[in-house]
Parts: sequence; structure tokens; C-alpha cells
Amino acid sequence: MKKKSILVLASLSLLFFLPQAAQADEMSQKIQEQTQVVKQLEKEVATITDKQTAVKEEIKAFDTRAVTLENELTTLHNEKEAIENEIKLQEIRLVTLEEMASLQTISQVTTVKNNSVENQKERIDALRKEVTEVEAKIAATNKTIAAEETNKEQKVAEQKELEKAAKAVQTKMANEEAAIERLEAEAAAAKKAAAEAEAAKKAAAERLERAGFISPLARSYSISSGFGQRVDPTGYSGTGHDGIDIPGSAGEAILAARYGTVVEAGYHSSAGNYAIVKHDNGYYTYYMHMTENFVSVGQTLETSQQIGTMGTTGNSTGVHLHFGIATGVWSGFVNPTNFI
Ligand SMILES: [Zn+2]
Repeated sequence: MKKKSILVLASLSLLFFLPQAAQADEMSQKIQEQTQVVKQLEKEVATITDKQTAVKEEIKAFDTRAVTLENELTTLHNEKEAIENEIKLQEIRLVTLEEMASLQTISQVTTVKNNSVENQKERIDALRKEVTEVEAKIAATNKTIAAEETNKEQKVAEQKELEKAAKAVQTKMANEEAAIERLEAEAAAAKKAAAEAEAAKKAAAERLERAGFISPLARSYSISSGFGQRVDPTGYSGTGHDGIDIPGSAGEAILAARYGTVVEAGYHSSAGNYAIVKHDNGYYTYYMHMTENFVSVGQTLETSQQIGTMGTTGNSTGVHLHFGIATGVWSGFVNPTNFI
């Protein structure tokens, strides 16, 4: 590789060291990280869902037990009622026995055995004891039901909390997923930009190799006034236009179309702030109407090194770059579109 082409490549890589590729790498790493976060959140959702299922089962079990307890309670109440009815019957019988006993005392007829009344009373007492026992069972069952209801309420509250937690995680997950989508779009854009920058770099290198010059602007452009015959809008340069006019915005970077040495730099009433660069290929390039001029006579420039900023100094009717190529200093102008 010749020294010159090394220089060209070095200067090109300066211009085209664009951060898109690094940005794309950074983004894909970010996306991976975000994806890990989403996976973690998915696990959290699964855990919460499992808990929800368990709590739901528990609540179902509570409901089943509640039915059983209510049935038990009904049975106990029925039992109590049966015993109480039995007591009423036995009390009637007792009254009859007592009446018969008192009649027997009068009539001396021994139809009622002496211990019958006592037996009957004991029987009634036993029944009353049974009632008390059933009542204790009823109270215990009611207590159990109350405790079960409290526990169920706790489970229902737990269920609500789990629903809340699940919703929160799901919202978070949706946000993370949206962030990933955004990052992916950004990554795709960065990748596209990197590819475009790479293509532009290649095109510029090819152009420099083929035509000797690259564009003085780091973008595509239109020409508002071409090279050759025209009516000069400033009325200064007569009818010939010794370069091309490229409109743009104030402050835009103007770049050296090829490496070279500055042979003129300064202010001219017509050219405004301008610079002329001498190149090794026998040509000179001209940059005019700049707002700022960053170069000075004798300075060596690399290809695409910034010369100044776009403006409208000198004889100019609007912000633009007048770009010219010539074989001499202020002579031998050629059409730049044949080169760039
Ligand atoms: Zn012009």
C-alpha cells in the first residue's frame, strides 16, 4: 500500500468513525438485560399465580367445610328439639304417675310401684343432661364456624393482595416489554444507520479513488445554481458561474473535498469568508460564503477535515456553499459535478 492511500484511508476513517456500530452493540446488550428482567417478572407472575391457585383451593375447602358444619348444626338442633319433645312427653307421664301415686295413697290400690315416680324423674333429668350436652356441641360448632369464617376472610384478603401484586407485576412487565420494543426499534435504526454510514464510507472511498474528491458536505445535497453560464443574482460575477451553489443551513460543517494545503484563506467582498486548497492531483478546491473559517494559509488538511461553517457572507443572497474546482488559483475553473 502506498503512503498516499494509507493517508487517504486514515483521513477517511477519521470522518467516518461513526458511533452507530458501538451504539448497536450497547443496545443489544440493553435488550438482553431487559429480556432478563422480563423473564424474572414472568417467574414472579407464575409464583403469584401458583399462590392464587392455592388460596382459591383453600377458600373452596372453607366453603365445603362450612356446608358440613351447617349440616351438623342443623342435625344438632333437630336432636335438641327431639330430646326437648321427649322431655315434654316424659313430664306429662310424670304428672300422670304422680297423680296415680296420690290416688293410690287414698285408694290403697298398689298399681304404681313406689320407685316409678323417682325413676321417671331420673329419666327426665337424664334427658335434660342430654339437652345440655347437645347445646354444648351446638356452641362448639358455632365457635368453629365463626373461626372458619375469620380464617376465610383472611384468605379472601390474601387473595385480593395477590391479585393486586399480580396486576402490579403485569403492568411492570408490560412497561418492560414496551421498553424492549422501543430499544429494538432504536437498535434497528442504529444498525441501519451503521450500515448506511458504512456504505457512505465505502462510496466516499471509491469516489475519492475514482474521481479524486469527496463531497464537501457530509450529506446528500441539491444544487441551487450550477456551473457555467447564468445571470448572476448578485450582479457581481457577470454571466459566468465558476462553481456550484449548494444550499444548506447556517453553521453546517464544510469539509475538505481532498487532503491538501491551504493556499488562500480570508475575506473577499464577493466570496465572503473563503478558502482555497491546493491538492496533489493538480486541482484546487474553493469554499466560499462561510460564516466561520477554521483554516489558515499553509495549513495542511486531511480529506474531510472541517474548513468552516456554512453562511452567507460576501455577495450572497442566502445561506449556501459555493464550491469550486480549478486547475489554478482563480483560473481554470472546471465543473465540480464531474468530480463530486
Ligand atoms: Zn456560486
